[in-house]
Amino acid sequence: MNPLARALNYDSPNELRAYLEGHGLGMQKKFGQNFLINPAVRRELVGALDIRAGDQVWEIGPGLGSMTFEFLSRGALVTAFEIDQGFVRALGELFPENENLKVIGGDVRKTWPARTARAPYLFGNLPYNVGSVILGEMIEAGCLFERMVVTVQKEVACRMSARPGSKDYSSFSVLCASVYRVEALRVIGARSFYPAPHVDSQAVRLSLKTGQIQYPKLFTPLVRFLFASRRKTLRNSLTKFLSSRIMKDSEKTARQRGEELLAASGISGSERPENLTVEEFAALAALVGEA
Ligand code: SAM
Repeated sequence: MNPLARALNYDSPNELRAYLEGHGLGMQKKFGQNFLINPAVRRELVGALDIRAGDQVWEIGPGLGSMTFEFLSRGALVTAFEIDQGFVRALGELFPENENLKVIGGDVRKTWPARTARAPYLFGNLPYNVGSVILGEMIEAGCLFERMVVTVQKEVACRMSARPGSKDYSSFSVLCASVYRVEALRVIGARSFYPAPHVDSQAVRLSLKTGQIQYPKLFTPLVRFLFASRRKTLRNSLTKFLSSRIMKDSEKTARQRGEELLAASGISGSERPENLTVEEFAALAALVGEA
């Protein structure tokens, strides 16, 4: 195989700017467009996904293809989802007739559900505004990958990898941890991007858990509801969930039922949702589903 020639110097803001200007393209803030111009970080991120030649990779937001180039150079088969039609055209020019690259134009939130063949690996230097939304929707829809490496805003990375009892632990932490082993990787300073964003970023690796990853139907609604009042006791929040969503009954009856369910789960009613593990949420959701 001939080595892939790089048509654009992805390390140089000047070259990137000149390419965009020469093609009548601009950077669109609404799409969270920041190019990763640090070659060492790019290599580290590709290494973290740990793929082999011939592996299929989905890439969200290829931009002008700096990461796409890294994957193709390693012999991966890439399906890239890009919302900016100008970038879609540019990718066609920068990677001409490359059989290993398929670019899907449009909003990935709308285009991925139509793809019947899923890749085992996913990579994305995700747009800040919708990164967590995209990941959350995929997890909830059961669109899971053997391994993912994503770059998100540092605060989002902290939430994704937070453990029970920590201040960053949220319903999103539980959702991620329900199916993935989550590892926060390196922090990426704003200067590694062009243009430099106002926030730091962080890479996160998510590896699919083995074994049981089926959850009760009420798992996600219950987790979200309980975290909406994370400082309230489970006794109080569960009563509200039961009376408003399940039993549609008086608070008194719901409270009584809640106490029974908590007793059956072995979780104290004075505990707070921010201290519960994924397994405890799952056990509670299963019992509530039977209520
Ligand atoms: N991968 C490139 C890099 O690392 O230099 C660009 C990353 S940039 C942070 C995010 C990319 O996601 C942009 O190319 C942007 O146009 C694209 N994008 C934003 N929202 C998107 C969406 N909803 N669906 C698909 N692509 C999107």
